[in-house]
Amino acid sequence: MSDLGRVPSAACVAAPLPLSLDEIVENGLCIGCGLCRSLAGPKEVEMVMTPEGRLRPVAHKVLSHSTLTRINAVCPGTRIAGPPRAQTDSAALTDTVWGPAERVSLGYAGDPAVRFQASSGGVLTALGQFLLTSGRVNFVLHVSASRTAPMRSERRLSFDAASVLESAGSRYGPVAPLEDFSEILARGEPFALIAKPCDVTAVRNLARHDPRVDKYMSYALAFVCGGASDLSKSEQVLQRFGLTEDELALFRYRGYGNPGLNRIETRDGRAFQLSYRQLWEDEDKWMIQPRCKICPDAIGQVADIVASDAWLNGGPAVDDEALNGIIVRTPRGMELFAAAVAAGALAIKRETSFAELGELQSHQTRKRRAVWARLKGIEIAGKPVPVVTDLALEDCARQNTPADNLSEGRGARDRAKRGRLGEPRPVARLNETAMVKDGCA
Ligand SMILES: Cc1cc2nc3c(=O)[nH]c(=O)nc-3n(C[C@H](O)[C@H](O)[C@H](O)COP(=O)(O)OP(=O)(O)OC[C@H]3O[C@@H](n4cnc5c(N)ncnc54)[C@H](O)[C@@H]3O)c2cc1C
Ligand code: SF4
Ligand code: SF4
Repeated sequence: MSDLGRVPSAACVAAPLPLSLDEIVENGLCIGCGLCRSLAGPKEVEMVMTPEGRLRPVAHKVLSHSTLTRINAVCPGTRIAGPPRAQTDSAALTDTVWGPAERVSLGYAGDPAVRFQASSGGVLTALGQFLLTSGRVNFVLHVSASRTAPMRSERRLSFDAASVLESAGSRYGPVAPLEDFSEILARGEPFALIAKPCDVTAVRNLARHDPRVDKYMSYALAFVCGGASDLSKSEQVLQRFGLTEDELALFRYRGYGNPGLNRIETRDGRAFQLSYRQLWEDEDKWMIQPRCKICPDAIGQVADIVASDAWLNGGPAVDDEALNGIIVRTPRGMELFAAAVAAGALAIKRETSFAELGELQSHQTRKRRAVWARLKGIEIAGKPVPVVTDLALEDCARQNTPADNLSEGRGARDRAKRGRLGEPRPVARLNETAMVKDGCA
């Protein structure tokens, strides 16, 4: 363990492959994206809501070695690759922690209604709408509140600007946007993905094995991500107000202002609200999924454009100017960004820098610097870790003191040994299907 404080010049993190789906989940590597279900097919793998409030894959039968090998090659819990080196080498801007970029700006949606309704400044919604109205794509794959069970989130295909706007906002609970990704590719139409960085990692993994991804997925947009919560986090909110899920007509985490309120409406016309601060005041109750604690790329290095919060007044204590940090990662993203600005879909407040983004998102900087040691600690505990490439984890760790790395590594090792970074074997909650299909409509 004493070597944990020192970062070797060519560290390599390797996992024994292929892991079974249960092993991926039980070792805390699954984020519930659904891509394995899409690859194996619904007859072999089903996504279930577990008692802990996580969407997890359950195999109906023992999966073949070749199916598991294919899943391990694409799962964002087993394989996490950064941007191609050529992209990093030719980028206009590069930073050890923040990765490559063509441009880094502060901006917001040109349409005031989008700016108001969306999570932060509405940049992702505005870009999704612009992609459709400019004819660049035929549809946008993203996520939305379920229309029948509004505290749940589900994957949505938006074919027009109104549908993109309806799906604006952050959904902090579990969602499997890629659960039918094979069917989406089979449509043979150009589309854009708006999702979490780990979802984008999954489809970039798939692109190395399935040429249809690069052929049809014209753009991948992401948000800077602090972690996805268990559904139990949202259920706590209901308990606070003495509500049950089948009473709900609306469950909005934020938006309609920046950050706006966590707003709940019931079908009999009552309304309840929590401020963003009240929602997140107790860190012990964030219920962030285990995979997020070792996330090497929560800043979307493999997306074309990434949007973040940008609290210029120190944090989301009160409603702030609705604004995004915008990291344009790729030349393709740059062309889209410039066209969206020219068309008025996006408005730019001013340019920014990685240094400012690092101040606005200090938790992301800390995590990027901690992950190498955390993964080493988990490996030393004898648990599998993802294969991570091209994400400069060792270089990020070198920005820590050896004592910091030692402490991160030992902490992760000890937590992994005690099973605190893992999850129970996934099983479906009782009566879950009835709840989602019938309960809230
Ligand atoms: C789980 C989570 C954690 C976050 N953590 C941070 C953070 O640490 N730092 C930070 O700066 N910002 C974070 N954000 C992002 C932030 O809340 C805004 O979403 C982001 O700034 C983009 O704002 P916007 O106004 O452009 O988004 P909008 O215009 O409202 O668009 C958001 C888009 O994201 C999609 N989406 C929402 N939730 C999910 C989800 N769970 N999975 C996949 N797609 C989804 C929606 O379908 C929509 O298309 C987080 C968001 C989520 C959902
Ligand atoms: S992260 Fe995605 S692909 Fe990997 S096991 Fe979980 S649901 Fe399947
Ligand atoms: S922190 Fe990482 S693993 Fe967790 S939801 Fe965000 S991008 Fe995915």
